[in-house]
Amino acid sequence: MANTQIAAARSGEITTEIERVAERENRDPEFVREQVAEGQAVIPANRNHDALDPMIIGREFSTKVNANIGNSETTSDLETELEKLHTAVHYGADTVMDLGTGSDLDEIREAHVEHSPIPIGTVPLYEAVKRAESPEEITTELLLAVIEKQAEQGVDYMTIHAGILAEHLPLTDGRKTGIVSRGGSIMAQWMEERGEQNPLFRVYDDICEIFAEHDVTFSLGDSLRPGSLADACDEAQYAELDTLGELTRIAWDHDVQVMVEGPGHVPMHRVAENIARQQDVCDGAPFYVLGPLVTDIAPGYDHITSAIGAAMAAQAGAAMLCYVTPKEHLGLPEEEDVRDGLAAYRIAAHSGDVANGLPGARDWDDALSEARYDFDWREQFRLALDPDRARDYHDQTLPGDNYKEARFCSMCGVDFCSMRIDQDARDVEDGEMSELETTTDLESSPAAEVNLPPVGTHDSSVPSKDETGEDALVERAGDD
Ligand code: SF4
Repeated sequence: MANTQIAAARSGEITTEIERVAERENRDPEFVREQVAEGQAVIPANRNHDALDPMIIGREFSTKVNANIGNSETTSDLETELEKLHTAVHYGADTVMDLGTGSDLDEIREAHVEHSPIPIGTVPLYEAVKRAESPEEITTELLLAVIEKQAEQGVDYMTIHAGILAEHLPLTDGRKTGIVSRGGSIMAQWMEERGEQNPLFRVYDDICEIFAEHDVTFSLGDSLRPGSLADACDEAQYAELDTLGELTRIAWDHDVQVMVEGPGHVPMHRVAENIARQQDVCDGAPFYVLGPLVTDIAPGYDHITSAIGAAMAAQAGAAMLCYVTPKEHLGLPEEEDVRDGLAAYRIAAHSGDVANGLPGARDWDDALSEARYDFDWREQFRLALDPDRARDYHDQTLPGDNYKEARFCSMCGVDFCSMRIDQDARDVEDGEMSELETTTDLESSPAAEVNLPPVGTHDSSVPSKDETGEDALVERAGDD
């Protein structure tokens, strides 16, 4: 039997990684074990990654965010690459993918694994291309050698572009933006030049054996993801998804953990369809989506266009979101781009968790709202997703210490601060607006028909609509 998290979970064992994940997610270890055993969640934890603090990716757990780092052919040095890892962890990435294509790939990868408390993902095809010097020269032997070496180095999950098949390629002919996945375009070129089937597909069982030995998790690449709204949900995308479903089940047969990658560029009204289809075709294996961008018109702001889709995807059941920075489609991101991209995606992930009623997710929102209403500025900064930015923005106009207790900020100003006005209008003792009831005949007000008695959340004595139903509320209005 393989020595993997899924194999252990299937045998009923609660591993130390499962224990740790349960603690981090505040869930029952037995529930975590079941999710891993059934392939509904993955714990990417290569046995050679000593610095790892285990985490879990699955739709029943908090939505995770990945940040891509790595050098390019034009920029490359170890110190800079370690700084990128530090930046990603600092701003809240749950995993990082080292997509380096420059020099010193081995040295940088080893340093990343050595220093990273979060899982490291890679795309071994990129190193294979570097070593083969041209994509057509890649061999199955080279691919397996690169994959095995990276597994030995401690990489926790790898994107494997095994799902794009020769028979899928004609389906992309009418596309507006062709094949936009880097790995997908390389595999397509290889198949076209050589007239052979995808080599990663051909040696997929061998890859499974390597992954089983080191407990590497599959991240099955969506080579035919749409690169534009026009290509979303087309035959090519869904044909590859069917193959990814088959590959998922083969990996599970080898006791190897699997997550599946997804699009890309998808209009809002089709995001949920993508998640539901993947969950169905891949038997609930965690879905790891790139965005999706919900419009193509905003280069320079694609962390926003994609975070909209990412939030919808998280609500619909995506387990991990691959961040997109403002530099998407334009250039290699700098530190500030990484910060903005991660903020956008952590917002998307958390919004999805709140919408899905993930236990405890809303507590953070409520705590911040209380600090906001209390004018507790220091607590508000501390709780903010990006505390430094919140404090900087506030202090740009009101920097003094005395403004940290002020009952206003510069947005509305001292005279028009609605929260201050609201608090002043309320009874000091109980915080209620009860004065009106004694001084005004509300029942004969022309607005009485539509302006029902107080149903605001501050008045807990009034049953919610869910408890009473619409009719009950109308009755109360009449009774009063
Ligand atoms: S001034 Fe406006 S924005 Fe600032 S705390 Fe008051 S209500 Fe909020």
